[in-house]
Amino acid sequence: MPWSITIGRFGGTAVKIHVTFLLFLAWIASSAWARGGWTAARDGTAFIVLLFLCVVLHEFGHILAARRYGIQATEVTLLPIGGVASLQRLPSDPRQELVVALAGPAVNLVIGFALVLVLGSVRPGELQQIENPHLSLLGRLAAANLFLAVFNLIPAFPMDGGRVLHALLAMRVGGPRATEIAAKVGQAFAIALGFLGLFGNPLLLFIAIFVYMAAAGEAQMSAAQQALKGLTAGEAMETRFTPIAIEATLGEAVDALIAAAQHEYPVVDAFRKPVGLLTRQDILTAVRAHGRDEPAAVAMRVGVDSVRPSAPVESVFERLQDPKAAALYVTDADGAIVGLLTRQALAEIVLIRSFRPDWRFDRRPRVDS
Ligand SMILES: [Zn+2]
Repeated sequence: MPWSITIGRFGGTAVKIHVTFLLFLAWIASSAWARGGWTAARDGTAFIVLLFLCVVLHEFGHILAARRYGIQATEVTLLPIGGVASLQRLPSDPRQELVVALAGPAVNLVIGFALVLVLGSVRPGELQQIENPHLSLLGRLAAANLFLAVFNLIPAFPMDGGRVLHALLAMRVGGPRATEIAAKVGQAFAIALGFLGLFGNPLLLFIAIFVYMAAAGEAQMSAAQQALKGLTAGEAMETRFTPIAIEATLGEAVDALIAAAQHEYPVVDAFRKPVGLLTRQDILTAVRAHGRDEPAAVAMRVGVDSVRPSAPVESVFERLQDPKAAALYVTDADGAIVGLLTRQALAEIVLIRSFRPDWRFDRRPRVDS
C-alpha cells in the first residue's frame, strides 16, 4: 500500500504503518491532551498503541494459520480502521478458509481472557465501559479485545465472520452459491448497521458503507466466476498481439507500443517460447531510465505462468486477480505461445455473458504475428 512505513519484519511478513494511522494517533493524543493534559494524552496514546498491537497480533493469527496451508503473506498494514494482511490468496478448501478466518478473532479472545485472569477482579459490567477513564489501562484493553473478537465475528464481509459464514455455506452448497448468499447477508447487515448509525454512532455509518462495498465486491467476483464457468483458456485468450523478440531494443518495443493498442507484450525467443512479459507500463517506465538501443528485455517481468489452451479459465481466474499478474501465457505442446489470457479479455467475456448467459465462445486458436 502506498504511503506506508515499514516498522519491522516477522517471519517474512513486513509490518507497515500507514501515514493516516500516525495522523490518527496524533489526533487521539491531542484530543486527550485538550481534555486532561499530558497524563491523559500519554494514557490515551498508550491505550491506542497497545490496542493496535493486539490488532497486529490478530492479523498474525490469520497469517500463521494460512501459512500452515502453504499460503504466504507479504505484509500487514495498520490503518486507523484496523489491520489489513495481504495474503497471496484465500484458501479454496472451505475447512481451511474456516480455520484461517477464526484464527484472528481467536487471538483477541485469548488476549482478552488472559488479561481478565491477570487482573482477577474485572466484573462483566466493567467490560462494557471501554471509554471509562477510571478503568485501568489493562482492564480497558481486555474489554477492547473481547469487543474486537465479537465485532469481527459479525457475519459480513470484510469482517472475519463473513469468511466464517462463507466457509460454512461452501461446505453445504458449494463455493459460488456460498459467495452469493454470504454477500447478500453481508449487505443486509450493512443496511442494518447503517440504520443504527443514522440514529446513533456516526462511526457505524462509515463501517456500514465499507461493509456494503466489500459485500458488493464479493458478489461481483462470484458473478464473474459464474460467467467464466465452462470456458477454456483457448476460448478466452487474446490471439492478436505483437510479440517482442528477445533481442529487440527498447526502441523497437516503443515502436510496437505505438503501432497497436496492446497492453501486454510477450517477449519470445526464436521458437516463439515466451521468456518474459512487457506491459505498456513496463515499457514507459524503462524509457525514463534507458536509451533506445538498450535491450527491451531489461524491463521485462519474468515468472509469468503458462497454461494450455484446454485449461479451464475458472481454475486460473484467481491467479489473474493478483494486481502484479498482468497476464498468463497460453502455450501449445511445444511451449510456443498461442495466446494471452488477460484481465481485459475476461472482463469482456463477463460483460457479454451478463447480457447473454448462454453465449458460446467457440474459437479456434489462431495466431497473427
Ligand atoms: Zn481478522
